[in-house]
Amino acid sequence: MFDQKKIVFSFEVFPPKKTSSIQTVYDTLDNLADLSPDFISVTYGAGGNPADRSTVEIASTIKHKYHIEPLAHLTCVNSTHDHIGQVLDDLRQNNIENILALRGDFNPLIPPKTDYQYAQELIHNINKYGGFDIAAACYPEVHPECSDMEEDILHLKEKVDAGASHLISQLFFDNHDFYNFLYRIREAGIMVPVEAGIMPVTNRKQIEKMVSLCGASLPKKFVKIMHRYGDDPIAMQDAGIAYAVEQIVDLISNGVQGIHLYTMNNPLVARRISQSVASLIRCTNR
Ligand code: FAD
Repeated sequence: MFDQKKIVFSFEVFPPKKTSSIQTVYDTLDNLADLSPDFISVTYGAGGNPADRSTVEIASTIKHKYHIEPLAHLTCVNSTHDHIGQVLDDLRQNNIENILALRGDFNPLIPPKTDYQYAQELIHNINKYGGFDIAAACYPEVHPECSDMEEDILHLKEKVDAGASHLISQLFFDNHDFYNFLYRIREAGIMVPVEAGIMPVTNRKQIEKMVSLCGASLPKKFVKIMHRYGDDPIAMQDAGIAYAVEQIVDLISNGVQGIHLYTMNNPLVARRISQSVASLIRCTNR
């Protein structure tokens, strides 16, 4: 995909917490499919919560019902070699060919298993299993557990050397952080395509939760918008969409290779953003 297109545009969806609510994600997909993203990724057991089969099931539906390429997330920190082997078998049986290989977050209520310590070990094992294209996560503002960017980039290089052929970034709100990061990783010899992760912030609660989870910094411009419109849901949604669109326009004009939109399972927001940048993507890929 990255060889064929100057810019790749993708979405992320997540399985609902309760498996009984799985229909909600299918409703989201019904409303996203006609936007024709290049691929749709599906998260796995986010927040250190135990995962079930939902990720494989949703990824399989994306492929076989909507005929869009799926990217299945897979985490290892709460898993064993045997269990990862079973998930890989399941993915293969469902013809899913792309995996975003992650360590996952620690859940204070669940002691981590000891088979895997870092995502690079999972990447290595998936590579050994064979038949998958592997993506990995990267952090323009440094992973919260790492004290400096240089060390974080060294570990990122280990993931690429282990077989990750594409990176997707953590969300960020200041494009300069992303450009600086790109410069630093290229200097370190990491040449694989990097997609910029964009999260449209459409309500105050969402941003408070996100920032505490991933440590993204908030530029003054963004804080002003939150203070001014945070208490008015419609105005905040409009402002959040406009902010995300402005970020994407700037990223595309500066030649990024991919935009990965965290849809938060909100097809309305994803639609408004996608439609606002569709002509830029078409023009870039001409
Ligand atoms: P790693 O690459 O293993 O890095 C984790 C930390 O360990 C970093 O600080 C790194 O510098 C350090 N490190 C790596 N190797 C070494 C080493 N050899 N020695 C010492 N330190 C080392 N979580 C979910 O639960 N489900 C999801 O679906 C999910 N999807 C995500 C999608 C994206 C695009 C992103 C950016 C994150 C996602 N996450 C998800 C969150 C992710 O699991 C967490 O950010 C997690 O804390 C780190 O995962 P990682 O794969 O980047 O870990």
